[in-house]
Amino acid sequence: MTIFQKIINREIPASIVYEDDLILAFRDIQPQAPVHILVIPKKPITNLAAMSEQDCAVLGHLMFHISQIAQAEGLTDYRVVTNNGAGAGQSVFHLHFHLLGGRAFGWPPG
Ligand code: AMP
Repeated sequence: MTIFQKIINREIPASIVYEDDLILAFRDIQPQAPVHILVIPKKPITNLAAMSEQDCAVLGHLMFHISQIAQAEGLTDYRVVTNNGAGAGQSVFHLHFHLLGGRAFGWPPG
C-alpha cells in the first residue's frame, strides 16, 4: 500500500486542505514552494500512464479543484506538475498532482 493510500485511509496524518468522495488534497511534507499541495484521486491509479478512459471524469474533477484550491490559497500564478515514472522523479506510485505557488519558477524545470 502506498503512503498516499494510508493518508486516504487516515492511517497516517496529513494536513488536508480539501476532500470529497473522489479526491483528496493535502500539504506536501517537504514543500518546494511556499504553497505545495498534493492533489490525488482516491482511486489508486499508479500514475498518468496508468489512467484509463473511465478516469477522465474524476481527473477533470480533480483539475477543476486544483484551480479552486489555488484560488483559495490566494494564488494567481502557479505550477501544476505530475511526475510519471521514477525517471521523471516519481517516488510515490499513486497518481498525484503537485500544486506549487508563492514564488517564481524557472523554465525549463530541472
Ligand atoms: P513525487 O516525487 O512526484 O512522487 O512526489 C511525492 C511527494 O510526496 C514528494 O513531494 C514528497 O515530499 C511527498 N510526500 C511523501 N510522503 C508524504 C506524506 N506523508 N505527507 C505529505 N507528502 C508526502
